[in-house]
Amino acid sequence: MGGPAAGPKPAVLRIKWEGALGGVFGGTDVADDGPVEHGFPHLDTVRAAITALYKRLSYDTVRTFSTSVPPADVAFCDTDDLHLGAQRVAGELVRHYRLPDARLIVSFREMKHAANVELAAGPEYFVELNDRFRTHREDIGAALAHEVMHVYLHRLDLSFPGVRDNEILTDTAAAYLGAGWLLLDAFREHGSASQKLGYLTPEEFGYVIAKRALFFGEDPSTWFTSPQAYEAYVKGMARARRDEQQPPLTAAGWAGRRRYARDRRHAQEHGRAQLAPSGVPYSFTAAGHEPLRVSFPCPTCHQRIRVPVRGRMRARCALCRTVLECDT
Ligand SMILES: [Zn+2]
Ligand SMILES: [Zn+2]
Repeated sequence: MGGPAAGPKPAVLRIKWEGALGGVFGGTDVADDGPVEHGFPHLDTVRAAITALYKRLSYDTVRTFSTSVPPADVAFCDTDDLHLGAQRVAGELVRHYRLPDARLIVSFREMKHAANVELAAGPEYFVELNDRFRTHREDIGAALAHEVMHVYLHRLDLSFPGVRDNEILTDTAAAYLGAGWLLLDAFREHGSASQKLGYLTPEEFGYVIAKRALFFGEDPSTWFTSPQAYEAYVKGMARARRDEQQPPLTAAGWAGRRRYARDRRHAQEHGRAQLAPSGVPYSFTAAGHEPLRVSFPCPTCHQRIRVPVRGRMRARCALCRTVLECDT
């Protein structure tokens, strides 16, 4: 014996959202295209999407999404009528996103993508789901959470340039506004097969859901039926908590604070050349004889905040109204 065991290559069934042409977005690809991507490769775009959502919706509107889609409202089992059930779940998501006059017409067909929605003038929107969902009804809520968010963003006239970034915006918005836990829960690995929905990695979904949980004081951890989704949520939460522990926030760790003190001293002594230290989220700005200021991303909405360098202080993010304890 010895050497690596020769086994069959794991079959990866991966459902990946993919844009299509000509006003039709949100198609998905059912493909055997290698292992599920993990980690945080799209974090910059995800954070930009959260900021864009706050800017477009305002704090007051984001605040109205304090309750996530409850698991019972989108539950769907194989004994439910397929079409009636899909319409009912679509109706719940339309209600959740507050699209009062939108009517979703859901149909199923054989297709390469897993789902797509036609973004027309409304009020009727046609959503097509892959025939695969006829026998995977538990994932219909996830597919619709993404497609109905396309309708929501279309009506807000909020988009990112490029199909990939726009899909990341769609997944991020769905997760931040309380329906994206369904998308993460559709991530499953059993034996040699795995399935994932959406453009975000499982950990990135976990990150956005965790940021939402921290903002609203919500605990979604018991909703996950997939153990792999729960694990990704835990990893995402750890990453989200790190956002709250960056200098000049007082919650920053010892090493970060020490580095910050050194960067600040350099900025004070050497001026411009040292104002934007590399590898850290903060930077210093000084204009002429004005006192030194530090700018850093808000840990909640990632809008940049600028405050004077003057020691312990409390700042409030103008965009998401989070109160931040700082030591600048
Ligand atoms: Zn999409
Ligand atoms: Zn903020």
